[in-house]
This record gives sequence, C-alpha cells and structure tokens, in this order.
Amino acid sequence: MRFEKSIRKFNKQHSEITKRWLKRQDRDPFVHQARAEGFRSRAVYKLQEIHQKYGVLRSGTVVLDLGAAPGSWTQWCVHQGCYVVAVDRLPMDPLSGATVVCADLQDETAEAVIQEALSGRIPQVILSDMAPNTTGHRATDHLQVMALCDLVLSWALMMLPVGGCMVIKSFDGSETQDFLKACRRDFDRVSRYKPSASRKESSEFYIIAQGFRGPPAQEQVP
Ligand code: SAM
Repeated sequence: MRFEKSIRKFNKQHSEITKRWLKRQDRDPFVHQARAEGFRSRAVYKLQEIHQKYGVLRSGTVVLDLGAAPGSWTQWCVHQGCYVVAVDRLPMDPLSGATVVCADLQDETAEAVIQEALSGRIPQVILSDMAPNTTGHRATDHLQVMALCDLVLSWALMMLPVGGCMVIKSFDGSETQDFLKACRRDFDRVSRYKPSASRKESSEFYIIAQGFRGPPAQEQVP
C-alpha cells in the first residue's frame, strides 16, 4: 500500500517535471530556430557562437565530437566542410560526412574505440559537449563533469597535432581554476565562454583551448 502511494507520488512529480520541461521548450526561441533550420538540437547555436568568436573550425578539419547525440554539432561541422567522428553512449542517427559510434567514453575500451573510428586520421579539433546525468546537487554535478573534462584533456594531449584545438563543456565549481591552469600548460590560448544559448540558470560554460603546443615531453629518468 505504502509502495503504491510512493509510486503515485513519483509519477505525479515526474509528470510535473515533464510538463515544465515541455513548457520551457515551447518558449525557447533556440528550440524553434533549430527546428526551422533542420538541426537536431538547440545546442548547435552554442557551437556556432563559439566559432564566431574564436574561429575553431575550417573546411577540411577532422573533428572528434564527444558526447555528440542527438547530433546538431556534428551536423553543423559537416555543413562547414569538416569530417567528423561522433561518439556518444546513446544511439545517434547516421549522418553523411560523419562516422557515428555508440560507446561509453568512460569505459576502459573508449580510447581504442575512438582510434578505430578515426582509422588513422588525426583530429585537429576535439569537441566535447558531454554532460553527466545531473543530480541537481551542484558540487556533485561539477565533480562528475570534471571527470569527463580530465578524460578529454588526456586524449587531446595524446591525439591533437601542434596547433590543434579543444572545446569542452564544463560546469563551474571548485575544480575549474585548476583545470584551466592545466589547459594553459599545453595550449597557447585558453578562454572560458558562456554562449547566449546556454541557459542563464545553469553553471554550464565552455573552455576553448587553442594552439596546442605538442605532447608534453616525457620526464627524464636519471
Ligand atoms: N552536442 C550535442 C548536439 O549538438 O546534439 C548535444 C550533447 S548532449 C548535451 C550531451 C551528450 O553527452 C548526451 O547525448 C550524453 O549521452 C553524452 N554523454 C554523457 N556522458 C557520456 C559518456 N560517458 N560517454 C559517451 N557519451 C556521453
């Protein structure tokens, strides 16, 4: 009896959240614009604005798009003439001009999966719009996204050529400054930016690291 009551309460709260989400989507101009322009998500306008400000892509660039589903960033990069390897743990509809891979990037096999999908190509740009399933607890969500940021940075150090670029989504919090400092060790220019399509109430922002200096020198063992 008590269990049924809890289920009813959960369902009611859940449908309230869904209703609020639908209402917010309906009022959101970026949602309408994305639909009208044939993009799979409003997230496309975040990358567009980042590109307008920092010039991260060129036609012919090989792009590794991590956390790519439903795929608006991949769509936009393909429109710019880039070749994209797109990875997400959720299934994503195929797209001509892109290799789409379904994999959890926190699995041990992730690096091998990425290398196989790249099949010898070297990405000049690594994008990550990966977001953990948020809990609503700011500090927890921050630490979870930082774990993803650390992963992406480690791959960038391994895969990018000199001059390469990385764009990563993050949530502001206690580890932000240390992460920016880590990026500044290996990139000439590191900026943080919150595009206008990023919701004001969210602590989300993007790190744009440009001018990769090359893989860090191996420490000499005396
Ligand atoms: N940039 C995308 C677009 O333009 O459509 C939207 C990306 S969405 C905000 C974040 C994505 O990150 C989700 O599709 C989620 O499945 C993915 N993601 C989160 N953690 C991941 C992980 N560990 N491995 C792979 N994908 C992950």
